[in-house]
Amino acid sequence: MSTKIAILPGDGIGPEIINEAVKVLECLQQDHSLDVELETAAIGGAAYDESGSPLPESTLNLCKSAEAILLGAVGGPQYESLERELRPEKGLLGLRSELELFSNLRPAILYPQLANASSLKPEIVSGLDIMIVRELTGGIYFGQPRGIRTLDNGEKEGYNTLVYAEHEIERIARSAFDVAMKRGKKVCSVDKANVLEVSELWREVMVRVSKEYPEVELSHMYVDNASMQLVKWPKQFDVMVTKNMFGDILSDTAAMLTGSIGMLPSASLDKNGKGMYEPIHGSAPDIAGTNKANPLATILSVSMMLRYSLNKTELADRIEQAVSDVLDQGMRTEDIADGGSFVSTQEMGDAVVNALKA
Ligand code: NAD
Repeated sequence: MSTKIAILPGDGIGPEIINEAVKVLECLQQDHSLDVELETAAIGGAAYDESGSPLPESTLNLCKSAEAILLGAVGGPQYESLERELRPEKGLLGLRSELELFSNLRPAILYPQLANASSLKPEIVSGLDIMIVRELTGGIYFGQPRGIRTLDNGEKEGYNTLVYAEHEIERIARSAFDVAMKRGKKVCSVDKANVLEVSELWREVMVRVSKEYPEVELSHMYVDNASMQLVKWPKQFDVMVTKNMFGDILSDTAAMLTGSIGMLPSASLDKNGKGMYEPIHGSAPDIAGTNKANPLATILSVSMMLRYSLNKTELADRIEQAVSDVLDQGMRTEDIADGGSFVSTQEMGDAVVNALKA
């Protein structure tokens, strides 16, 4: 039976970049190496325009029944005055929570061909390949109690709660070790165990779960040191696993090491490995409709989907090789052209498909 994939183009450049990623999926379908059924639905502003909701029931049901979800991007200036519940971003957050996508995988990969795009020296970042595994549904962003209260002396006080239960740490630990098994078999757990009790428990559970993965080497690092090491010598890392808030910050730092937002994919997984795959960038309204967007982050999101939800490692490798091949051929969209000549969104997608067929 074929595998169902939900395709959610979304807003801005979303439909343009998704078109190119779908071409790649269809190419693998045509050469019979992939048996998938693609079904498209609206999300974000496009869904609001159609039905008055950024996450219509029909889209949610499709995503629940699909094996994996491929999303373009949501949002746009025309939706910014809507009330919070109706904004495009609410569609995305709603999907993450409805599907319990607690494990966020954010790779920072710098193809050697693009080493000059980074603000760091090429020898520090060329060939960089880190995976940051961020806990996405717990920690201080969700902990109760939270709020702003007024003290007896009339002064206001803001407060949030950093809380993790053992089962939440266990499942993100397993997710990180599973990912490491498909890569370099090294996990660095980032915490603040010298100050926070939550981090003490985090470390204890990480060590316990690591016993189930004897092939994987586990190390620990305090978050302040991790942020320094990421810019000092990032290639020392394979997989980094961390809490929601630390991951939020470190994954953006890691992404910026590569200097090219149009190249980076991401995944958000549930406990069974079902996932939503999307580029890390937004809907880029400034270039929407101009055929200028870089589709490679979305195409690489397809590769992550094949690797992490569909267990098609060989096809994932083929896509990554095809992307590397087109970069070798000198194909660049404007964002990575470094002032030189560039190709359109469609031309880049076609080039990847041709490289796949070669
Ligand atoms: P953005 O990532 O959309 O754009 C930032 C800059 O990067 C822009 O100059 C844009 O042209 C460029 N850029 C982004 N993706 C590119 C690509 N594939 N190729 C070439 N250039 C690219 O961030 P923003 O401008 O802060 O946000 C725009 C909208 O996107 C907002 O409505 C925001 O809420 C939304 N957003 C959505 C997501 C998501 O869907 N996951 C993530 C971030 C922002």
